[in-house]
This record gives sequence, structure tokens and C-alpha cells, in this order.
Amino acid sequence: MRLPPEFLYGSVLLTISILLAAAEDLPVTTVVGALPEVEFSNLSQRDPNPLGEKALAINPEQWKHGETEHFIYHFVHSYVVTPISIEAEFHYRAVAKELEREQPPGDTKAHIYIFERPEDWQQFQAFGNLERWTGGIQSQGSLFIQRNPAYKFSSNVLGHEIAHLVLHRFYADGVPCWLNEGFAQYVSKGAQASYQRARGYIAKPRSQAIAARDLIPLPTLVAMTHPPSDRVEIFYDESERLVRFLVLTDKPSFLALLDALGQHQPFETALLRIYAGKFSSVAMFEEKFREYASKDFGTSTQQANRE
Ligand SMILES: [Zn+2]
Repeated sequence: MRLPPEFLYGSVLLTISILLAAAEDLPVTTVVGALPEVEFSNLSQRDPNPLGEKALAINPEQWKHGETEHFIYHFVHSYVVTPISIEAEFHYRAVAKELEREQPPGDTKAHIYIFERPEDWQQFQAFGNLERWTGGIQSQGSLFIQRNPAYKFSSNVLGHEIAHLVLHRFYADGVPCWLNEGFAQYVSKGAQASYQRARGYIAKPRSQAIAARDLIPLPTLVAMTHPPSDRVEIFYDESERLVRFLVLTDKPSFLALLDALGQHQPFETALLRIYAGKFSSVAMFEEKFREYASKDFGTSTQQANRE
């Protein structure tokens, strides 16, 4: 019998969770199957991002290093990085599958810096823009996060950040903010649900409906260059719904739209060209999208989803 890969990863994670739980009160420095440590000078690639240098200059003696197929890690304790490295590769596969793309072997790896001490993290935050949604910092394809050893895989935070890293690999010039955040939410919710299913839980991807009166008008949403500080939650939920709606309407068209927006074409013209025959005008598209985005709002299904 051949098991699906998510089942295998789920099992590995579960095993590691058990090991971690058992090891919590012990001064354990190695966990079975831990990410191997690599000398900095032997890492296969360097990070050209100046923020990486700044991170490693904070208590420089604490940093250890390691790598997997698509990521290079800078970390303090192997029992913290090991589950993260497994989860990161899991999410990489989920995102690449969704994008129907793969990096060629030997391509650039993204760097992930994992801080543990709150005071180190506070010091580092002065250098970058914290993403309020996840508490991480993304910069030029590198990710900086703080993790404490009690981290329990309870949310889609890492999946969300990994989605940004993978999008950056394929669209180095950037994609619009709604698309970057909406895709990260969309793909990480799906991946998180498949994790939970692999561990025996009944889980469906969670997507939040939004009250029609609260929706940000489409032209405003697609023009935003960063999440609006007074409507952060609506921005993420609505962007996720917009991506979901575009994917459900026609997946190949969504991928073509992503390419067009990655080349900085205007949303309205690219949409009407690529989804020709589906929507005759942007106004018609917006009407259908608003209907979809607010569907089920306030119903019992929605309440169950919020738990
Ligand atoms: Zn994000």
C-alpha cells in the first residue's frame, strides 16, 4: 500500500510532537531524526539579504545552521528547528502543487531565521516590518520568526509565511498585496486542514465569510499596497475569498492571472482578458464576488467554522 505524502508527514510530526512532549522536562539536546547541523561555512548558499547579517549579529555565538531541499535554517535549538523544517517542506509541496510549478534542482533556497529569546527578537524587530497577521518578518525572500519551544502547530501561521517565500521565488518582482496575502491565506488553510486530516481529525479548509456591508470595494482592495491598519482582518479574509473565488471559477485562468499580475499588468484589464467569456465587465465580476464573499455570513456553518 502506498500512503499519500501528507499522511507520512503527519505521522512524522505526530512522532516528533510526542518526543517533544516527553522531552519537555529533560535537558535533551538531540531528538531522533533531528535536522543535521551544518557549519556556516559549509552551507550550500549564502543569504544576500542584509537583514540576515543583522540577525546573525545578535548574540552571534547562539546560531546554528542546517538545510533541507528548499530552505536554509538559522536556529538556536535543534528540537525547535526540526519540526519547523518538516512543516516548511510540507508547505513548500502544498504551495508548489497549487501553483503547478516546481523549482529546478539546485535553485535558490529561502533562508529562515528562528529566534527564541524575546529580547533578541525585540532587538531585531527594529530592522524590519512585522507582519501583524503572523508576527513574522518577510524581507526579500527571507523569513524571520520567533518561536518558543512550546510551539504546537496549532495554526496556519508557518504555512502562510512559507507561501510568501515560494511566491517570492517564482515572482521575484512581487505581486499585488491582496494576491500575496490572499493566496498565502488560501493555500495555508488548505494545507493545515490536510495536516489535521492526516492526524485523524475531521478538518475542512476554513474560509471566513464577510458581512456584505463590511466588504472593501474591489477597486480599493486591489490597489492597496499594504493591509489597512484599521481593517486588517477584513483585508485578509476578503483577499482570501477573492483568491478562492478566482480559483473556483477557473484554475488555469487564475494561474494566468497570477502571471499577468506578477508582470504588473492592471487587475481590471488582465481579469477581463483572461476570464473572457466568464465576466463581461468588472462591475459584473464584483457583483458576483460580493455575493460569494458574504455567502453564509452569520449562519450556523459560519459559527462552526469560527471555533
Ligand atoms: Zn502575509
